[in-house]
Order: sequence, then C-alpha cells, then structure tokens
Amino acid sequence: MKQFVTAFGAEPEGVWAAPGRVNLIGEHTDYNDGFVLPFALPHRTVVGASRLDSPRWTVWSEQADEQIDFDLSERVTGWGAYVAGVVWVLREAGFDVPGAQMAITSDVPLGAGLSSSAALESAVLTALVDLGGLDLPVDERPALAQKAENEYAGMPCGIMDQSASIRCRAGHALFLDCRSLDVEHIPFDVATDGLAVLVIDTRAPHRHVTGEYAKRRETCEEAARVLGVPALRDATLSSVSSLPDEVMRRRARHVVTEDQRVLDTVELLRSGRIREIGPLMTASHASMRDDFEITVPEVDTAVEAALSAGAYGARMTGGGFGGCVLALVDADAAPTVADAVVAAYRAKGFTPPESFSAIPSGGATRL
Ligand code: ADP
Ligand code: MG
Repeated sequence: MKQFVTAFGAEPEGVWAAPGRVNLIGEHTDYNDGFVLPFALPHRTVVGASRLDSPRWTVWSEQADEQIDFDLSERVTGWGAYVAGVVWVLREAGFDVPGAQMAITSDVPLGAGLSSSAALESAVLTALVDLGGLDLPVDERPALAQKAENEYAGMPCGIMDQSASIRCRAGHALFLDCRSLDVEHIPFDVATDGLAVLVIDTRAPHRHVTGEYAKRRETCEEAARVLGVPALRDATLSSVSSLPDEVMRRRARHVVTEDQRVLDTVELLRSGRIREIGPLMTASHASMRDDFEITVPEVDTAVEAALSAGAYGARMTGGGFGGCVLALVDADAAPTVADAVVAAYRAKGFTPPESFSAIPSGGATRL
C-alpha cells in the first residue's frame, strides 16, 4: 500500500477496507426501534497496518494530510478521535489491542452523508481485530464501532452506519431491525437487472441539522409516551391519527408509514421486483417533505428532476436538511437523469450537484 510505504518506509503487515453506505429506505426509523435498509457503496476506506511492540498508535491519513501519535493516556480529538475511539472501545471490552502503525486513505466523500466516519471506524476496527488475533465475532463489531463514535468521538448516531459498513454483502441490501439488531441480507442486484442507483450529492449547505434532529427525536419519543407504547415502532396508523397535536401526528405518521414502506420494499426485493420499489422511495420522500419536514429546496429539486427524467423512484437519504438523494434508474439512463438534475439546479442557481452510480457492495474485509 503506497500510502503506508510513504508514511512508514515499508509495506504493512496487512491491508483492510470498509465501505461507506447509503440507506435505500427507512429514515428516522432507527431511534424509533424500527427498520432500515442500507447498502454498502463501492467507495471505501482503506487501512494498512503493522504491529508495534508497545501500546502506541501512529496514524497517517491521506485525507487529513496529517500524522497523529497517541498512547493510552491521551484523549485524542479531531479526526483521530474516530481511530483512538476504536482502540478505546476495544480495551473497554477487555481486549488486548496491539499497538500499531496505520496509514489511511479513502474514496468515501467526507461529510456528505455517506458515512465516511463509520467506514473509518469499521476499517480500523477490522484491522486491529485481525492484527491482534482478537476473538470478536463479526455480529458484535457494529455496536463497538458505534460506541466509539458515540462515546469517544462524541457524535450521536444510530447503529445503522456501522452495521452496514461491517455486515453488508455485495448485491444485497441489509435489512436491519433496530430493536432486535437482527439482520437479513436482501437481494438487491441492480446491475444484473439493468438498473442503477444514482447517488446525487445535493451539496446543500447543512442547516440546523443537530438541533432539528434532536427536536424530531423528542417529538417521536413524546408521541410514543402519549400512545403508551415503548416506541413508535409499536404504534398503528389509526392510533397515531388520534394524537391530539397536529405536528406530533404528522411526525408519528411519517415513522409508522416509513416502517411499513421498509417492510414492503423488502417483500418486493425478496421476489426480485426491483423496479416496483420506485413508488415506495418516492412516497418516502413525500413523507419526509410533508410530514417529517426534513427536506430542503435543493433536495426536493433533485428528486423532482430525477422523476421527471424517468427515474422509477427518488428520495432523500440520510438525516435530512441536505445530504444525498437516491434515484432508481435504468443503468443506461443514469447520465440523462444526472444531467436533468444539473439543469434543474442551474435554473434555480444552486451549487452544482455531483452524482455517481452505486453498486451494492460488500462490507469490511481484509484485502
Ligand atoms: P460522514 O460520516 O457523513 O462522512 P461525519 O461528519 O460523520 O460525516 O464524518 C466525517 C469526519 O470523519 C471527517 O470530518 C473526519 O473527521 C473523519 N474522517 C472520515 N474519513 C476520514 C479519513 N479518511 N481520514 C481522516 N478523517 C476521516
Ligand atoms: Mg458519519
């Protein structure tokens, strides 16, 4: 690995990689104990690593263009927190983590909602587990990577990103029950069907993301309390319609209908009817726009332009207020749809978006 050789003057003992992800459907359902359906991107974060004799970690990132160095007494901040957090969480779990030199590079866009943070944690975790011969089953790894991000890097996030980065399979989406943490690999082989998922980075400036996220979460928890259920996952559409507050009613309706759309999507994919999930994607977007109110003009414009240009379905993916839009398209129509979005953006004077076609790819692995 050339980045490792540049940083440390020798080849690494091993090279590991973990992907970014997008969520096909199931937004703001995770903290309501519901369902999500992410798939891994071909874009991934690569870590070359070699053991050191002492408990020290020297880490170079090509994207940060910085080398950091820490031992167990230090509290690392900045991008290094995602690496040091993984060392910390493994030690917390009782593992004898080997000291290491690591070189990191990635083609997952940073901060675009494609989960470069989970890709980084998952790649580092997989590398350290293998290097140290640690006995940590794959199904227990996402929770540890999530804990590193929550408690060490200080970013509140659900378990979807790390689950996707670690557990996804090529040609499949990952059906994750956020209550039981059970996963099922659902066939989603778009390429074989002549389809593509166009990922459009809307490049909308993020507005009030953290505050609005917290507000949505509070409203959902309050709605569950009012309804007397453990979480909105347990609510029904008819019970939700009896909620006294109009805003709360719409927020809860998004969550309840979105859970159902995930289940319906899974059913269609199980029987190979990929094109038919399009309307569910579009309905998910309408629900985020009208009931949950987490879209912004750039995002709505991208969805409308993609649909007008012939996409089977389109929706914002991720927490909202910007980020990426997914459009399910015929593979040979992907450039036309991408151009239509660019034209719609130009007409409105928005910063030009960037698009790529995503093939559902595999999870963290040693290369
Ligand atoms: P996202 O996960 O959507 O890309 P986040 O804000 O959660 O956005 O994570 C982005 C942060 O993760 C970056 O600002 C940086 O601190 C860290 N990061 C991700 N990938 C790398 C990398 N290859 N090198 C250094 N830091 C990285
Ligand atoms: Mg992230």
